[in-house]
Amino acid sequence: MVLSFGPSCNPGSCSPAMEASEWPEDVSASCSEGYYPVSQGEVFNGRYQVIQNLGCGYFSTVWLCQDMGKKRCVAVKVPKGGENFAEAALDEVVLLRCVNSKRRKDQAGDHVIRLLDDFKMIGENGFHVCLVFELLGPSLQSLLSGPGAQGLPLPFVKQVTRQVLQGLHFLHKECRIIHADIKPENILLYVTEESLKTLLHNTVTSSEGAKLQRPDDMAALLDGCNLMKMGVRIADLGSACWTYKSFSRKIQTQPYRALEVLLGLDYGTPADIWSTACLAFELATGERLFEPQAGRYFSRDDDHVARIIELLGRIPPQAAFFWKQASGFFSRKSALLRLSRISSYDLYHLLTDKYRWPQHQAAPFTNFLLPMLEYAPARRAPAERCLQHPWFST
Ligand code: ATP
Ligand code: MG
Repeated sequence: MVLSFGPSCNPGSCSPAMEASEWPEDVSASCSEGYYPVSQGEVFNGRYQVIQNLGCGYFSTVWLCQDMGKKRCVAVKVPKGGENFAEAALDEVVLLRCVNSKRRKDQAGDHVIRLLDDFKMIGENGFHVCLVFELLGPSLQSLLSGPGAQGLPLPFVKQVTRQVLQGLHFLHKECRIIHADIKPENILLYVTEESLKTLLHNTVTSSEGAKLQRPDDMAALLDGCNLMKMGVRIADLGSACWTYKSFSRKIQTQPYRALEVLLGLDYGTPADIWSTACLAFELATGERLFEPQAGRYFSRDDDHVARIIELLGRIPPQAAFFWKQASGFFSRKSALLRLSRISSYDLYHLLTDKYRWPQHQAAPFTNFLLPMLEYAPARRAPAERCLQHPWFST
């Protein structure tokens, strides 16, 4: 019996989206631009037999495979081919090996995905450095587009946020790694044994192997299952870097991008904390904290900075002035160059007015989020401090 969760292909990143229960007729056509064309039943590296697609990211496709050596199911990530992608995948392997080596028996590191193996394949796009992971469940994104469209139950949001912060504390302090892409798609459900039984009970299986759950089925599946019995693991270290050596100036996915990254300044582990605040807000309300859009006369980054100021207040003039690189955004008087009319509201009233949260829930949540959204990275609460916040015990 095989546990299957269904694909979370993002149609934007790998089009056309793969139909849930069908094998794409021509994977090479649907996954062009460097993706490896996977054929049904293919055996990777003489050991991992492909069963079905689990997801597509911008950099890779991920496949549910049967590890014929160890007789278990695994997830194999096949990054795009070519020199640059192979180099990035090798960096991901090195970072994940470091994570494995720092993992301790006392559960530190339990909220970060485990790399089991890695190997190389050659395809029409060159070398593909493949990563073999423990099989995890669907991402938080799939919960948000299902029954969690209006936000997930608050106790579950607290549990997930706590686990993400524990994972980040481990990455930041033990491994000296910045994840650099915290977002719902990259946080995967980890199903405990008890929930696994419920899921297995509900899983459609057939003699040919696993049948995918369609998204609707999955929503029902998760609905019937006790969410609180599920944990999460931080996945996708594809954009991660060392605290002492970064690989790229622009990190993170736009809505979750920290202010210092937007402004082109130096960044560190606090950038992950900013994204985690955005993640917690989205899990709790079902909507993104920031949803910047480009306009006719301004860029998406301009709009993003303006929306941050609208919600969190003016950037202190001295700070804006001394941040030399930020001069692309601000005038000498620290006013935004391309967006002059900015309204002003605050997080607490956003929760009470727009989302109709009661005061006793909105106040502690605001209080929890604001230190994670401090403008100055040095003043932003580190993961350890966030974990001690009373919001977790309210
Ligand atoms: P991105 O576009 O975010 O950079 P990526 O190409 O680096 O993505 P991942 O985020 O690692 O790829 O994986 C893509 C998707 O595949 C995930 O969102 C998830 O749905 C699925 N996936 C990844 N790893 C696993 C796993 N271990 N178990 C189950 N599903 C997985
Ligand atoms: Mg990803």
